[in-house]
Amino acid sequence: MFRPFIALSTSGNSPEKPGNYRTLECSTAYTHAIALAGGIPGLLCEEAPEAAASLYDALLLTGGGDLEPSLFGETKLNDTVSIDPIRDAFELPLVRAFLAAGKPVMGICRGAQVINVAMGGTLYQDLREQLGFVHSDMRLRHFVNAQEGSVLRRLFGERFRVNSTHHQAIRDLAPGLHATAYSPEGIVEAFEHDSLPILGTQFHPERLTAREDEPFTPDFLPLFEHFIGLCRAQKG
Ligand code: MN
Repeated sequence: MFRPFIALSTSGNSPEKPGNYRTLECSTAYTHAIALAGGIPGLLCEEAPEAAASLYDALLLTGGGDLEPSLFGETKLNDTVSIDPIRDAFELPLVRAFLAAGKPVMGICRGAQVINVAMGGTLYQDLREQLGFVHSDMRLRHFVNAQEGSVLRRLFGERFRVNSTHHQAIRDLAPGLHATAYSPEGIVEAFEHDSLPILGTQFHPERLTAREDEPFTPDFLPLFEHFIGLCRAQKG
């Protein structure tokens, strides 16, 4: 069976001493999930986004810090907004290049927010200040309601529990995207595109894959298998 080559975005640090190099990293939770689902994970290095979109079969945008608010037409709300301009400057052209190539794109947490902003959507900069909800605790689990007709609903049912470690959240979805799962407070926790192979989750399914975590939380491997299936469908 065809094993698609999946590009994974990486996070980078900000070297404190001038002249030191930036170090890139990616949690193996993502690479394990992609490999288990039948793909070959490859880490990107903040270079040549258009060439990556031509070489790889699909893009997985990984989690990380906040997006620069000016990218969706706002100024920084407060000091909790923690940005990485180098990563923003790489990932937005990257997602646009994969979209232009018509290749599948999946975003997780920050990655879902990157897809939304790249396609014209907006974010809540600080969920706690703007809506009064805290969704950024590693121990936190909350239920979501998966919408009828969605991939999540088909794979995992109507109601299940997910992790939640996000500081920002989707405010207005970009044209073409529709919400496929909501938190109990109505926060968008997942989306799909109306017609293109694009999906995003605000939660972290890669940390809930191939492990028996806790009650009401499914094993999310089938979501990654769905993503790999989109790549196989394109190869025909
Ligand atoms: Mn959440």
